[in-house]
Amino acid sequence: MSFAPSRRHLLALLGAASGSAVLAACGEGGSGSGGKPTVVAACYPMEYLATRVAGDHIDMIQLATPGADAHGLELSVKQTLEIRKAALVLQIPGLTTALDDAIASEGTDNVLDVSSVVTLLASSGEDEHEHEHEDGTSDEGGEEHDLAGDDPHLWHDPQRMADIGDAIAKRLGEQLPDVAEELTANAATLRSDLEALDTELEEDFSSVSGNRTFITSHTAFAYLADRYDLHQVGISGVDPETEPSPQRLLQLEQVVKDEEVTTIFFETTASPKVAQTLAENVGVTAAELDNLETQLSEDQDYPAVMRSNAKALMASWS
Ligand SMILES: [Zn+2]
Repeated sequence: MSFAPSRRHLLALLGAASGSAVLAACGEGGSGSGGKPTVVAACYPMEYLATRVAGDHIDMIQLATPGADAHGLELSVKQTLEIRKAALVLQIPGLTTALDDAIASEGTDNVLDVSSVVTLLASSGEDEHEHEHEDGTSDEGGEEHDLAGDDPHLWHDPQRMADIGDAIAKRLGEQLPDVAEELTANAATLRSDLEALDTELEEDFSSVSGNRTFITSHTAFAYLADRYDLHQVGISGVDPETEPSPQRLLQLEQVVKDEEVTTIFFETTASPKVAQTLAENVGVTAAELDNLETQLSEDQDYPAVMRSNAKALMASWS
């Protein structure tokens, strides 16, 4: 995607100093450089939905860089302006602090808060999500991540994705009345694809007897576990740069023994070091799960990654 500074953009930049001018521009429909309304997302799954519903009629702006952590992203001045000018901003509260803050300070006229569409699971107990980064910083207890709040990783449930797809079609249809019917039809096709994926995953997972326990470096898969009755165990509170505490290692070793775990998973965007060391120490395999926060390969779209994650989990139980 390129955002050449068109005359319209330059005017918007000039108008940034005066809030009213920018708000006026916003009221004109939040057109992008190609004259299409812009839609902003901060994680790949929301981009996938908006593109499936309205790809031909919108300019999609992805705030998160592929391979980077969607939680800790910082907004550039340009991105802040894009949020302000967007026709629609897709917000998963608690996912990206910088986006939540920008939305809180800008008002919410152009925002679709997906927690108004689907129910979020509470992030608590051992499913608690603590973000560790390759640079050694952690979101634990910090501003980056609201540990006491809802778990934002809802996209691992295809049913919730379908509901959000419908909501996107409805909101964009209000702004693009000429193609509203087309968007509704696209959302319906999307829903049937997602429901087929859901059925497939349901059948795959239910064919496995036993504990269906998986250990992952980050607990980003609570919605998958909830939807398909799996048991997620996180190696939370472990910095990728440091060894896990002997106590935590013993706990995990016990889980491996008690629940016949064969594999310890690491997330594609996190350093594999800790999971690999752990796997080595307890004598099991290390393998990858993709948390889908960003799209790691253009050849692998949302359903493809959901299927390959399921395949990796199934293989660990076979
Ligand atoms: Zn996450």
